[in-house]
Amino acid sequence: MSAPQVSEPIYNIPLQLWPAYAERTVVVRATDPAALAATLATADAERLLGVQLQALAADSEPLNAWQPGMPIELLMGDPETEFPLLYHHTELQDNHPVRVVIPARPGLAKAVKVALALEFPVRIDPGQPDAAALAELAAVLELYLRHSDVAQPVEYLHSTLLGLYYDDPLPLWIAMDEEPGLLYQVADDGTESLPGRLAGVAPTTLARDAGPLAWIEQLLATAPDCQSCAFRRVCGGYFKWPQRDYDCRGVQKLFTELSAAANELRRDLDTAPS
Ligand code: SF4
Repeated sequence: MSAPQVSEPIYNIPLQLWPAYAERTVVVRATDPAALAATLATADAERLLGVQLQALAADSEPLNAWQPGMPIELLMGDPETEFPLLYHHTELQDNHPVRVVIPARPGLAKAVKVALALEFPVRIDPGQPDAAALAELAAVLELYLRHSDVAQPVEYLHSTLLGLYYDDPLPLWIAMDEEPGLLYQVADDGTESLPGRLAGVAPTTLARDAGPLAWIEQLLATAPDCQSCAFRRVCGGYFKWPQRDYDCRGVQKLFTELSAAANELRRDLDTAPS
């Protein structure tokens, strides 16, 4: 779920910590939809920005009519085996914006295809993709760029393409809802850290008040390869975490294809009859 334009921190918390964070702005994650709906039955929508369902095998029916309009993310663990479970959650879309989060692992392309056929927007969690995951990502990119029946956004590809098209890219940290300095991950034991791939990095490692873009500049400064990278503005050093020696050639190839697609789109629109 996209972080709204708020300046106060947003905490991703497990359901059991809801009472402790009731005065904070939060996203709540849980495996049990019935427990989510019961615990958050009267949650203030100003404070609760959305929920994440961590178990796709769970029956999400209790969430169907709960808090209409509340964003829900479905977190997929293993795309190869879990993609059929998406069929059980389509009714959530009657009352909620729903997005599926899929890790770049074997089965990614098939899972994305099913999610899009069911009209779910998708956010790929790319990790630091190895050769097999890069092949899956390339297949998804082909699907996203070339199949005219794809009507839902596939992040991070979608934001990157738009950023390149308008020459105003957002660093992936922001496009992927992992904005350091704004978002915080709270572990089951209550330990707070930075979000997403920065999980485990203590918030005090970088200046808490520096602001998201300043944080990204600090992250970039710790990855020398990024200084000369042609995709520094669209990526923001995202793929150099957590392993700083990650070889970016594969992800740079995907960025190159997105850049070519943005140029092609611009050319097509420039030459289209008015
Ligand atoms: S693609 Fe790799 S080298 Fe380029 S900005 Fe991103 S993390 Fe840095």
